[in-house]
Amino acid sequence: MFTSLTEKLHEVFKKLKSKGKLTEEDVNAALKEVRVALLEADVNFKVVKDFVARVRERAVGQEILANLNPAHQVIKIVREELTALMGGQDARLNTAAKPPTVIMMVGLQGSGKTTTAAKLSLFLKKQGRRPLLVAADIYRPAAIKQLQVLGEQIQVPVFSREGDPVAIAVGAVEEAGKKGYDPVIIDTAGRLHINEELMTELERLKAAVKPHEILLVVDAMTGQDAVRVAETFHQRLGLDGVVLTKLDGDTRGGAALSIRAVTGCPIKFAGVGEKLDMLELFHPDRMADRILGMGDILTLIEKAQTTLDAQQAVEMQKRIKSADFNLEDFLTQLRQFKKMGPLEHILSMLPGFGGMKKLREEFQFDERELVWAEAIINSMTPEERRHPEIIDGSRRRRIARGCGLTVQDVNRLLKQFEQTKKLVRQLTSFEKGFKKGAKLG
Ligand code: GDP
Repeated sequence: MFTSLTEKLHEVFKKLKSKGKLTEEDVNAALKEVRVALLEADVNFKVVKDFVARVRERAVGQEILANLNPAHQVIKIVREELTALMGGQDARLNTAAKPPTVIMMVGLQGSGKTTTAAKLSLFLKKQGRRPLLVAADIYRPAAIKQLQVLGEQIQVPVFSREGDPVAIAVGAVEEAGKKGYDPVIIDTAGRLHINEELMTELERLKAAVKPHEILLVVDAMTGQDAVRVAETFHQRLGLDGVVLTKLDGDTRGGAALSIRAVTGCPIKFAGVGEKLDMLELFHPDRMADRILGMGDILTLIEKAQTTLDAQQAVEMQKRIKSADFNLEDFLTQLRQFKKMGPLEHILSMLPGFGGMKKLREEFQFDERELVWAEAIINSMTPEERRHPEIIDGSRRRRIARGCGLTVQDVNRLLKQFEQTKKLVRQLTSFEKGFKKGAKLG
């Protein structure tokens, strides 16, 4: 997520930090680079211009430049302004005074609308709600089938019947009222491009079911196109929020950073993977931290809490921080991390990881490698697992023979283990700093 932007900002601020005292020219030069980095990340031109102007205005003030640690002050301002750009506060879903709450999902074909409707159902189900999914995309039989399959996976009922989308949606709301389902999540039709026919149908649906929440699903990978789509949908329908999907991909950041500023619509959720539990609440401040390479420890902890059982989570924390973190623990961690989602995504939430290209490359870990890692570690003696430092050349050869892999594979695993230890140390010192309130130090 936003790798290139994070790296560039990291470089700009590294330079700034190395300077000690700052002049107005230093700040201006840094902001010029920030501007280029944002434009290259496909952030809307006007949004960038206003953003840089605001940061400059705040950063060149006397008291900041005279501050003992001016670079940190500048970073703090950038962080605050990035947060503001994405809406400042967390945005919540609207709820009906009298259930059921009706949520209308809209968006172009391929944006991830149907998947997101299912993800949102699961998200709300985990909070104790009883959602009803509604298949109102009658033009593509495959879309109805897709929703039914997803509904089955997450054990959420799917309402579908023949007829006009408006009649289907109205019927679903009635059914929900009778059977106590709440919320009703309507998967509306999508098209490849915005067209009049689609907009008219959505307007009719809106008038008929009076949704409490109209959520637009857009693909973050499409950058400024996503922003234009959001503008049009907002003008026609009056959106309540946006869900940004595919943030796990190689997206540059343009959509995330521009949508709120351009349209005034808050981003409420982020899709971070194809699996149905990969939907996160969108927190502007945490997103700003991720963009700045400061990680997102809070989301990571929440993820651990919902994925692992409490006992496991406590154990994991204890072991991970202990000085004798060894290869057996490493294997356990790898297995648990895997449950929480792709390792790369998890690691991207650790402070500093975003800015460390080399480290990220060394951490390319796929599912197969987990099997190899297990085989390699199983081929070690208990003593080797507990004291990896004793694993010399001849032991490496023996281990490789034992599991049918090469010495290079063994070397790589040991290197990844060392890197994990390094990350853990960083995490621990970050946590200490965080507790002292020196988050930006
Ligand atoms: P729709 O046409 O808008 O209903 O789109 P779908 O829900 O069918 O999704 C299109 C594709 O995007 C599917 O392959 C989904 O698995 C994928 N997708 C949806 N959300 C995400 C996401 O957050 N991350 C990733 N990587 N893929 C996603």
